[in-house]
This record gives sequence, structure tokens and C-alpha cells, in this order.
Amino acid sequence: MKDPYELLGVPKTASEADIKAAFRRLAKEHHPDRNPGDEAAARRFKELNAAHQILSDPEKRAVYDRFGAAGLGAARAGGAGPFQGVPIDLGELNIDGLFADMLDALGIRVGERGDVRVEVELDFTEAAFGCKKTVAFDRIAACARCDGSGAARGTDLTTCSSCNGRGRVRLQQGVFPIAVERACSRCNGRGSIVKTPCEGCSGVGLATVRAELEVDVPPGVETDSKRKIEGQGSVVRGRRPGDVELLVHVRPHALFRRVGDNVVCTLPITFAQAALGDEIEIPTLEGKGTLRVPPGTQPGATLRIRGKGIPKRVVGGRGDQLVEIQVEIPVDLTERQKALVMDLAKELGESVQPQRRTFSEKLRDLFS
Ligand SMILES: [Zn+2]
Ligand SMILES: [Zn+2]
Repeated sequence: MKDPYELLGVPKTASEADIKAAFRRLAKEHHPDRNPGDEAAARRFKELNAAHQILSDPEKRAVYDRFGAAGLGAARAGGAGPFQGVPIDLGELNIDGLFADMLDALGIRVGERGDVRVEVELDFTEAAFGCKKTVAFDRIAACARCDGSGAARGTDLTTCSSCNGRGRVRLQQGVFPIAVERACSRCNGRGSIVKTPCEGCSGVGLATVRAELEVDVPPGVETDSKRKIEGQGSVVRGRRPGDVELLVHVRPHALFRRVGDNVVCTLPITFAQAALGDEIEIPTLEGKGTLRVPPGTQPGATLRIRGKGIPKRVVGGRGDQLVEIQVEIPVDLTERQKALVMDLAKELGESVQPQRRTFSEKLRDLFS
């Protein structure tokens, strides 16, 4: 494949309008209708079309600018049709061989893209209402001692002889009949070689640095949710820094658990409170609140306090607080207490309770 810029006769800095104009002019000139029987013109017309396809698409153009035809060609080999799909990133070849060994020896592990994963621990209420958090983590960045040059202070770098200081070399890739440019492996794309290595980084130019980031945690985040902060990760030579991926971990609450945008808690009440009703002090996300338990509240009933749950991220407003009622049956009764319960039972007699009524109705249905 020929250089699309050359084909269209535009500089690398050409604007979209320039490219369009150049294509129109040349396409008209080489159009098969205008050049009947001219095979060379037909071929040229096809090439112009292919070049325009690449340069008129910002994404394809960026891939071509970075990796040459190989970036687009590799995608084609993936079978997704001409110039479709995700290009193979030749930039990854920067980390290989000697350079990776050197980093390894220093105990520095660089992920493919320099992405760093950082866990953020949040309290239940911090996650519910959002907060600002400062997270500290290790990232790989330019060595401070040599400013990333890798050369000991006061010493010079020499020009790399493999790439004559360009930092990139051309090579023929087997599958594609085209020359591919990639970072020079001798100098790792820097174009220069360290003569006397920096003592801080053994000539690599990178070091592990403690970094801090202030993170705005939005209200309503859930545990295991992730957030990406671009460009704050590790520096992998020849590329922009990787990203920081924040992984949220919400500590469980002693009283609350989260179900969607609602918070759920369990409230133990006495038999008397359930039967007669009561106003009971309960915990909410914002401190103490009062819950009115209506008379005749059944075990397992759920009472709802509107708007006391988790702030809703998309639609606004808040979820509810759900209070699950647990009725405690008294144990270890004294003789007097037993007698009182017995009296109560006699007094209640056959006046059935809601649960028992449904139960006896079901029982009747089953055997009638
Ligand atoms: Zn250094
Ligand atoms: Zn080189």
C-alpha cells in the first residue's frame, strides 16, 4: 500500500477540508469514465479511494499516523473487512528484550499499557453520600535523579547507531508486503544510548514513585464499581502514561445493608410493642430517627421510611429505608409472667389473629 498522503499529494498536517478537496480533484482526473481503457488510471483511482478512506476517517488516520499501514493491515488480516476492527498495537513492542529485563531486575513491573489498579476503601455512608478521598499508590515515572534520561549526572548520551538517532526502524513484516516502522529495540525508541548509567535507575530512566490523587467519589457508588482516571498511571516508554483504575470497596455497615437504592435494617421489638404499637428510635444514614410502629404489627413486616435511602445517581431523589420487624418472644418467664401470659391467652380465646386466620382458612381449604 502506498502512502495515502503521497497519493493525495497533501502534507501530514493537512486539514479534513484539504484532504477532501485533493481527493475530489484527483478522483475527477483519474475517474475511469474520463479515461476509458486506461488501466493505470483505473488502478490509480482505486488507490486514491483507499487513501481517502483512511485519511477522511479520524480514527483510521490516527492509526495510520502512529503505526503506518501495518496498523490498518493487521486489522484487515483479522477478517473484519477492509480497514475495520481494532488495529494491532505495535507500540507494545516497545517493552521487550533487554529493557524489560532491566526493569525486572529493578523490581519494576510494567503492565502492557502502564495501567495501575488502586483500591479505594469507603465507609457505607461515604459511599452513600459521596466524598473526597485521597488515594496513594505506586506508579512508574521518570527517574528524578536523571530526569528520565538514564544517564548519570554530568555524562552524555550517544546517538544510537541502529536507528541513527531516529528511535524508529523500518522492517518488513512477513504477512504484509509493506515496510513497518517500530521502535528501535536497541535504544527503546529513544534514539540515544546511555554510556554511564544513572545510579538511581541503572540507566532505565524510570523509577517507582509514590503518587497521590484526590478522587471525587460520587454519591451512591456500589462496591466493586470501577472508575478510570486517564493518564495518571505508569509511564511505559514510548507511550503516554497508562490509566489509574479505581476499584471501590465499600465496608459493610453494622446495621445497614444495601439493596439497590434502598437501605435495609432489622428492628427487634417486643411482643407488647408489636401488639400495641409504639414510637421507636431507630438509626438512619443521617443519625437517629423515629419510627412509628402501628398496633398489630406482624413479625417479618417491613416498614418503609421514604427518602432515607441511597441518593439515586441517574434520576435524582433517594431510595427508602426499609425496616424489617423482628418480634421477640419473651423467654425464661417467671411463674408470675407465665400466669399473666396464660391469662392473656384465655382472654384472647378464639379471637383469631391475622396469621392464624389465614392458616386455618388454608387448612380448611385443603381438607374440605
Ligand atoms: Zn535515573
Ligand atoms: Zn535506536
